[in-house]
Amino acid sequence: MVCFLLMGFKEGTRKWFGRVVDDKCQAEVYSEQYGFKECGEPVDHIHHIVPEGWTLEHTGGDPEQNMGLPLCKHHHVGEDAEEFSRDFSFHPDIGNAYSDYGEWKKQTEHMESITGKKQTKKDNPSPFDVAAQEHRDKTSRGERYWAGDENVDQHYKDKMRERVDIYTATHPEDKKPDTKPHPRHTKKKHWTDNV
Ligand SMILES: [Zn+2]
Repeated sequence: MVCFLLMGFKEGTRKWFGRVVDDKCQAEVYSEQYGFKECGEPVDHIHHIVPEGWTLEHTGGDPEQNMGLPLCKHHHVGEDAEEFSRDFSFHPDIGNAYSDYGEWKKQTEHMESITGKKQTKKDNPSPFDVAAQEHRDKTSRGERYWAGDENVDQHYKDKMRERVDIYTATHPEDKKPDTKPHPRHTKKKHWTDNV
């Protein structure tokens, strides 16, 4: 479900990013005792550091070529928490949708059994529909809809750039898979195109 909602990298790209980091979640968590430490749990998802919808609408370019950040589920779509804290996640709204979904489904089925009618998405959107709509609304308003800030993004971009450089230098046989451009990818027009 999360793949559908956040859209994901293609499978080959996803697996390749996993190999780059030796299947270890790259989230960095801070504690008094150990300072910054990498999570290191097995990778569940590859987070688009700059999300796909945002790229399509604002920055242009093919989101399939964005830098990926391999994360465990907890650090990708876990509960809301402070930056760099143990429970920080990039998409806490989706974490909430996960926890609300069971109750929503129960109530929906209950309603449907009473009325004998299927509830429509419009009348009764699921917590995931609500989150997806919120992403779209924020995107069109130019508002960030993922946790952290530009410094956090930049930190992980730099970190992953380094990991990718090391991996490609030491594993020349395992190139990043070539993928077709994203179907909705349209090249943003440069202002000179119209001159
Ligand atoms: Zn993690």
